[in-house]
Amino acid sequence: MSSDTYTPTRQASERLSGTQKLYIGGQWQVASDNNVSDVYNPSSGQVISHAAVATTDDCERAVAAARRSFDQGVWTRLTPAARGRILWKLGDLLEENADEIAELEMLDGGKAFDGARHGEIPFAAECFRYYAGWCTKIEGSTKQLSTVADAEFHIYTKREPIGVAALIVPWNGPLVQAAWKVAPALAAGCSCILKPASETPLTAVRLAELAAEAGVPDGVFNVLLGGGASVGQYLAEHPQVDKLSFTGSTEVGKTIVAAACSNLKKLSLELGGKSPMVIFEDADLEQAIPGVAQAIFSNAGQVCVAGSRLYVQESIYEEVVTGIADIAKGMTVGPATTPGYDMGPLISARHLNSVEQLIERGREQGAKLIAGGSRTGNGSGYYLQPTVFADVNGTMDIVREEIFGPVLAIQSFRTEQEAVQLANASEYGLAASVWTRDMGRAHRTVGQIRAGIQWINCHGIPDMAVPFGGYKQSGWGRENGYESLLQYTELKSVIASL
Ligand code: NAD
Repeated sequence: MSSDTYTPTRQASERLSGTQKLYIGGQWQVASDNNVSDVYNPSSGQVISHAAVATTDDCERAVAAARRSFDQGVWTRLTPAARGRILWKLGDLLEENADEIAELEMLDGGKAFDGARHGEIPFAAECFRYYAGWCTKIEGSTKQLSTVADAEFHIYTKREPIGVAALIVPWNGPLVQAAWKVAPALAAGCSCILKPASETPLTAVRLAELAAEAGVPDGVFNVLLGGGASVGQYLAEHPQVDKLSFTGSTEVGKTIVAAACSNLKKLSLELGGKSPMVIFEDADLEQAIPGVAQAIFSNAGQVCVAGSRLYVQESIYEEVVTGIADIAKGMTVGPATTPGYDMGPLISARHLNSVEQLIERGREQGAKLIAGGSRTGNGSGYYLQPTVFADVNGTMDIVREEIFGPVLAIQSFRTEQEAVQLANASEYGLAASVWTRDMGRAHRTVGQIRAGIQWINCHGIPDMAVPFGGYKQSGWGRENGYESLLQYTELKSVIASL
């Protein structure tokens, strides 16, 4: 790993040198007790900035600001077309500032600049444009009545915004995950409070600035920074929050379900995954082998849909295992801030430790380590080698637990039926991919795998028009598409006697 020669741009330096502030009711504020937390660059392990840590009072004021703006109709009394124009403009502003935002995503999220600049940032921009279009297309329907005879009625349904929405996102895709929630919430007419992960506050703050510039009225979009157990939990419990959309671990998702009981707020949960990939013997291995490697090592495996379990048909098992091990061994690992590395750092020292512990358990439980398995780098930053285990079985922790790191577990299968059984042998059901030239087999297999988003001969491609979410313990509800928009609405039925 060569030394990191990166120096921040002037724009980034200025931003980092200040404290990242809370955005409440259109005002930028430090925490009411002046408390701040450190913000780290995972590529260097250095503190690069500080962020306000919202107190209970700050949370209360943010909920009140969102509530007031919603109850006064500050946002909903704009025409749908006017709201759509503002969301479209926000998308344009994200794109216009993409270089700067990608740098921020690189700095606290450990993401390669090019990937953020040409992938996640334009994707977030498109997400706002996509939902801008939905503002004018939220519809109800008319119904017929059969329960009363000899009378005339006019019956209709309408979709109304659900109210105040709290939006809690993780660190692995800070801006994109925020866009997936903020865009449909605003398109539906909600007022919202975004809480990014404490590791990655930078782009949430920038998003709020651009939302204000685009014309989102004060109080409609608020940002609270701080820890999950304090700020996140407070929002989950708050009786004035009508809806909570959460992306994060299954463990915290369960805590949120309990907290949301206070007022039975509506929940969407995008939770963990342990996504299977199935390679059949007729697959195009020149496509499948690099494809599955990319599916696990992209963003250092810190992707909810990472293909972390690989099932390979017996006759091609050795060839696939060797091919993936060769890719893993050949990958370069280094700072996100230096272009050209194949893989960047993990998000934090704590996370690196937890991934390492699971690798250790893999060894202890008898999985065959065929690539990686150790820390790498010069001690600054949080780097792990791309790691591959072969000859695993379903009792091992590395097969059962979400690792959220660059660790692949490979097992062989004989028949299509066995492949489906293995793929389904998980408490998670977020994503899957199937690799074969036989389209009948491909569609039959995805039909039997219980996961919310599946790919054939590719893996991990998202789109704001395509619903995304989990079966089983991978969550409730869907993000993206019209389906996500509906989750920020209530459905009202009206029966009028004529
Ligand atoms: P996490 O659950 O620890 O934290 C996610 C967010 O929740 C953060 O903002 C955190 O501050 C907040 N939080 C923590 N405790 C909370 C509590 N008690 N109440 C309310 N909020 C709380 O997850 P993470 O480590 O940041 O992210 C990794 C996890 O996210 C993985 O499990 C991954 O699979 C999942 N994830 C899922 C998707 C998806 O779409 N299904 C996408 C990305 C990440």
